[in-house]
Amino acid sequence: MACLFFRMPVSYINIAVPGTSRRLFTYSFDIIDKSGISPGDRVLVPLGRRKAIGYYIEKAPSVPKTGLKSIIEIIDRKPLFSAELFSFLRWMSDYYFAGIGDVLRAALPPEMRKLKQHKHSSGDLPGVLKGYKIDLTLIDNDAIRQPLSTLDIDCASKNDILGIGISDYKFRKLIGQKVIQPVYGLPDILPYIKPRPEIKGLKPTSEQTTAIKSISGNMGSFKPILLYGITGSGKTLVYCRAAEEVMARSKTVLILVPEIALAGTLLASFRAFFGDRVALMHSALKAKERLLIWQNIKNGTYRIVIGARSAIFAPLDNLGLIIVDEEHDESYKQDDPSPRFQGRDSAVMRARMANIPIVLGSATPSLESFHNAQSGRYELIKLTKRPEKAETPVVRLVDLTKERVTRDNLFFTKTMASHIKKSIKNKQQVILYLNRRGFSPRIKCTNCGDSPICPHCMVTLTYHRSGNKLMCHLCGYTTFKGDTCEKCGKGEFLYIGTGTQKIEDKIGELFETARMVRLDSDSARGRERAHHILADFASHKYDILLGTQMVTKGIDFPDVSLVGVLMADIGLDMPDFRASEKLFARLIQVAGRSGRGIIPGEVIVQTFKPELDLIDDAARQDYDTFYDREIKSRELFKYPPFSHLVNFRLSSRKETPLEKNTLAFKISL
Ligand code: ADP
Ligand code: ZN
Repeated sequence: MACLFFRMPVSYINIAVPGTSRRLFTYSFDIIDKSGISPGDRVLVPLGRRKAIGYYIEKAPSVPKTGLKSIIEIIDRKPLFSAELFSFLRWMSDYYFAGIGDVLRAALPPEMRKLKQHKHSSGDLPGVLKGYKIDLTLIDNDAIRQPLSTLDIDCASKNDILGIGISDYKFRKLIGQKVIQPVYGLPDILPYIKPRPEIKGLKPTSEQTTAIKSISGNMGSFKPILLYGITGSGKTLVYCRAAEEVMARSKTVLILVPEIALAGTLLASFRAFFGDRVALMHSALKAKERLLIWQNIKNGTYRIVIGARSAIFAPLDNLGLIIVDEEHDESYKQDDPSPRFQGRDSAVMRARMANIPIVLGSATPSLESFHNAQSGRYELIKLTKRPEKAETPVVRLVDLTKERVTRDNLFFTKTMASHIKKSIKNKQQVILYLNRRGFSPRIKCTNCGDSPICPHCMVTLTYHRSGNKLMCHLCGYTTFKGDTCEKCGKGEFLYIGTGTQKIEDKIGELFETARMVRLDSDSARGRERAHHILADFASHKYDILLGTQMVTKGIDFPDVSLVGVLMADIGLDMPDFRASEKLFARLIQVAGRSGRGIIPGEVIVQTFKPELDLIDDAARQDYDTFYDREIKSRELFKYPPFSHLVNFRLSSRKETPLEKNTLAFKISL
């Protein structure tokens, strides 16, 4: 009989498994089950002796060898990724040489990556528990109805209910009787961020109007726009108004920010305009909340997504606009784990694939973006003025080789100290910035500002307290630290790298009455805490805000009249071709925190190298001159944007084969 020869039709599919190699694995599976699998969906597969979550990529193009294992099950019954998002993820995998499995995994909320939870994470969650609804009509016992009726019967908390004398046992019984029913809802996004209703009433300036018009004039086609607006020029209002146009066309908006903790002003503004249609994606959320937000972005409840670089994966359908705020910021780049990608560049590609405009905003555009604007690949829109009364601040340089610092007045010259005193006396606020990025302990001469460098590698030596040694971290060269500076023979050494703690003590000593708060990666562990520190500073509970790069970005406080840069040239001696660009951007950004209200702003920059072009440009807030010089040097040395850099990392458990292979690899290049 024919059916004796009948075999179940089998097809072959290629599956990506995260964390393995970049190649795909081929499995067989029953064609009957093939209804409803789309690229990117999760499948459970046997992998060696274990089970793993893999992602369906495509049908196997050629007939593979026999004896292949079969998949265990398809996890998702609804497609996880739209075709558009899936092609974007494939592009990312190719361009950044990352396994597509790693990319897909990164694009999903953590809860969906776990093997144990996979069953629960496919269905839509009801939401997070908000409270309990009480149906008084179902109660005939007056002794219970009476106290219950005093509560918020639409959404009372369990504590409220137990608080009126209902036992835990009775509580559960009432739930069983459906007298009390749980209410689920969406998580509050950062409840401590209050919307800023004032922003809706602002009338855009003529420059802002032009910017808004050029963005909305490009709806429906790919158009990268560089919004080059000086600090305090009102980029946020441009973003909000442009987003409004997009929303009016029933489309969605994706906004990337460098760091959620510092995006308070932006969030508050978007909340004022769009209320609870705004979702926030950030890593401080609980796993379940993240899943819930992801699901509600996907089902269209949220129409605007604000998040750090990983929000590039937001499952927004019908995308109408992407905004990348502070596009120059280095935190858009993900180093580890794979996929190692540049969030801003990826956003441009996502916009291109979705055929929509993308706005890159910055007061100090990255050289790459500005170069693209100069060559006409991006449209350039400028905001050159601060709206209304606010003026750009006046910057003063203090030459540290002349106005000397000693171990005793570490970081506080007479000029700096007297200006701080004056601001505090006038009930204004001060931001003090210590540039410490990529900073290791080192010494500096108090007289000439020289830091000992390695005679072989020309990089600054790192100070090691144990043994009183100076070491080169590139070649290992070691020397003892002398008592006086070798270069000028006069100065004693200053130890820097002790961080903000020491400065904090000094501030307490110098400005006794001042209330000070510190914001850096140590004190701001947890984004919520950073928000609270900034909120307290905003409501003038403190006079001085001391911090590292966290104080340079995004914050907008009208009472700040003085910004002090304690030592500007730290960071220049880093072995990084972008060192000048990064330092320049930070100086401009931090200066831009001053004078945002009616009080005119002042900036004091202490530096050992006032003669440096870069410091001079920053003092004059002159991006254009800085750009012209820097781009020439990039071209001369064939650095990006005139070339692409690729970082190869080779690793092995054993040294000898690694050495051999590295050498072979080097020769083959
Ligand atoms: P940035 O360009 O640095 O992001 P912001 O968007 O934070 O600047 O705006 C700086 C300040 O200017 C904010 O306090 C904002 O409320 C105010 N502002 C922006 N646009 C206008 C306007 N058209 N009229 C009056 N004030 C404005
Ligand atoms: Zn010296």
